[in-house]
Amino acid sequence: MPAPSRHRVVVVGSGFGGLFATKMLRRADCDVTVIDRTTHHLFQPLLYQVATGILSEGEIAPAMRDILRHQANAHVLLGEVTDIDLEARTVTSSVLERETVTPYDSLIVAAGARTSYFGNDDFARHAPGLKSIDDALELRGRIFGAFEMAELEPDPAERAAWMTFVVVGGGPTGVEMAGQIAELAHRTLTKNFRRIDPRDARIVLVDAAPQLLGSFGPRLGGKARGELERLGVEIHLGAMVSGVDAHGLDLDTDDPRLQRIEAVTKVWAAGVAGSPLGALLCERAGIQPGRGGRVPVEPDCTLPGHPEVYVVGDLMQHPDGLPGVAEVAMQSGMHSAIQIERRIAGDMTPRRFRYRSLGDLASISRYFAVGKWGRVEVWGFLGWVIWLVVHITFLTGFKNRVTALFHWIISFLGRARAERTITKQQIFARQALEELETLRVRDQYL
Ligand SMILES: Cc1cc2nc3c(=O)[nH]c(=O)nc-3n(C[C@H](O)[C@H](O)[C@H](O)COP(=O)(O)OP(=O)(O)OC[C@H]3O[C@@H](n4cnc5c(N)ncnc54)[C@H](O)[C@@H]3O)c2cc1C
Repeated sequence: MPAPSRHRVVVVGSGFGGLFATKMLRRADCDVTVIDRTTHHLFQPLLYQVATGILSEGEIAPAMRDILRHQANAHVLLGEVTDIDLEARTVTSSVLERETVTPYDSLIVAAGARTSYFGNDDFARHAPGLKSIDDALELRGRIFGAFEMAELEPDPAERAAWMTFVVVGGGPTGVEMAGQIAELAHRTLTKNFRRIDPRDARIVLVDAAPQLLGSFGPRLGGKARGELERLGVEIHLGAMVSGVDAHGLDLDTDDPRLQRIEAVTKVWAAGVAGSPLGALLCERAGIQPGRGGRVPVEPDCTLPGHPEVYVVGDLMQHPDGLPGVAEVAMQSGMHSAIQIERRIAGDMTPRRFRYRSLGDLASISRYFAVGKWGRVEVWGFLGWVIWLVVHITFLTGFKNRVTALFHWIISFLGRARAERTITKQQIFARQALEELETLRVRDQYL
């Protein structure tokens, strides 16, 4: 008789949901295969610090293989998941045209979200989002590169366009990005140039909403606004972006001075939608995709009609209407792992996922952050200390915690930014990718 094989769990995605689910299964009687298109686990909340030269990419993106090196039942596979067969119970992934089909008994899909341009995907070329290490490094190249080009530019109007930075989106990512570009211009770069004065940089934050940090409430939104204005950030609320091109952007607003902003560097921090895997899963399961392409799940985070498939984190649309934050991803990932362990032990009763909020935090500048825990609101230096402690605690890996702390001391106590290197690869990456994509499309039709 062949030995009965162990229960096979496949986890798609090595973000917060996938990592916490996998770790939770470390003592379970099962084999876990984690598939991701990258080789790392990414701490997305600190991407803006990579983009603005405070942290290195390695500090927020440790290798998944290394994190799981002691977990004997976990196996890490590199690959873009291209198909999920719910009947045959297999996941197909591919990398460099090498296709792998991985069978599962239980599946956890934690493929996260992507930047949404609300149907204007052509904006992406000139206003990159901030979802991946590639995005952060490209933005670093664009931001530091803009000051270099301004130093070379003799024409005052062109120079002003190089020195204007527009951040679209007044949520946590947008305010953090705008605050850091302002600190870069007004503190870090002050003595670095001879022809330009980086303090002349214009940093603009625009959002269609009437207040910043909507989820934090009006008081904290106002505190964030006050701090950003103190740093010299120009804030325009109630203004919708109607066009983006290489030289600037157009705003749908009654103020004629703002209908066009000449700015070479734009950052898109305005919207997110579910990973395309969400649409695929919905199609395979015969259900309608939810808000922003997310997957509507049962209260226990399973795919309707498929109690062996869990969708967690940013990709799920839970009946409780949960926010797309790291804590939801971690807790729903762990919940799915516990359910799988119970099913392996023969207990098939579904248990509802209940999210316990640990609060919200956003850092605006050095020594100033806002935080909200239910009715308790903090801001200023106290908020910043809490932000520091929380982020150091949740960064993965002891070495990363030590080096990140070291870089924060350099950047916040001093003026320096240790990670200002930009390479040709970063500057030309998007162009190279676009050329590759053109070649691929052309090859399909030849
Ligand atoms: C800039 C930024 C700042 C943020 N700040 C905060 C904050 O301050 N506080 C907070 O709580 N939350 C914050 N968030 C949100 C938080 O990071 C997310 O809620 C969390 O990462 C979601 O975890 P997840 O596991 O669902 O998805 P992710 O962490 O996005 O992981 C998804 C994984 O799936 C992989 N993947 C996707 N598609 C495929 C595929 N087809 N094949 C293979 N692999 C695939 C991706 O490579 C990725 O590794 C921020 C997000 C961003 C982008």
